Amino acid sequence: MTSPVPAQIHPAAEWPRLECVYRRLDTMHAWRGWHWWPDADPFEVAIGAILVQNTSWTNVERALESLRSAGALTPAAMAALNQDELEALVRPSGQYRQKARKLRSFLDLIAAHGSIDALLSLPADELRAKLLATWGIGPETADGIILFAARQSVFPIDAYTLRVFGRLGIGPVETTSYDQWQQYFDECVPPDRDLRARFRALIVLHAKHLCRKRDPRCGDCALRPECPGARP
Ligand code: SF4
Repeated sequence: MTSPVPAQIHPAAEWPRLECVYRRLDTMHAWRGWHWWPDADPFEVAIGAILVQNTSWTNVERALESLRSAGALTPAAMAALNQDELEALVRPSGQYRQKARKLRSFLDLIAAHGSIDALLSLPADELRAKLLATWGIGPETADGIILFAARQSVFPIDAYTLRVFGRLGIGPVETTSYDQWQQYFDECVPPDRDLRARFRALIVLHAKHLCRKRDPRCGDCALRPECPGARP
């Protein structure tokens, strides 16, 4: 994370605005289901974080169900599959050859540390560096694994985050830099892991259900009064 938060943004002053957004998101979406809480299996979460790249969660669920039905949702069982078998099981998530290779790289990383628990127990900075050095794992996937599988405090950024906060005019809206947006949330949101996990989930739910890419449902949005990007 090398890009500085713009000088005009003062982290201490940002949380009250962000907390207001958080509370309204919670009011709108707390009743909806979220696939990664409260205590999902860490290995399954990590596999889901890799499989969800460039596809919908619905497709990931189909792939996870295939893996579950085959008894392959543990590191040892998945590692015992040959590549053809693994590709066939993750096929519903799309780009299945690449995804199978990515899973294999992640399994190698687990094996190098002895267990998934040992890997996920590394300090967040160390774990992030090791994940980013693993083929097929970029910043968004790495931070998703750290927050939802390792249950450590970090704030993943994705296109949903940029869309929602870009429309709200909150954050370093002049950039799409992952590092700069992450630094913004990291400096402005309290480091409580559960708060960050919930905030992150609410952003995703909001982007999927109301603040949609095309045709946002601004008329149903509690943030509309303060949203400069609201549609008529
Ligand atoms: S008012 Fe519309 S654009 Fe603004 S956050 Fe809500 S859904 Fe998104």
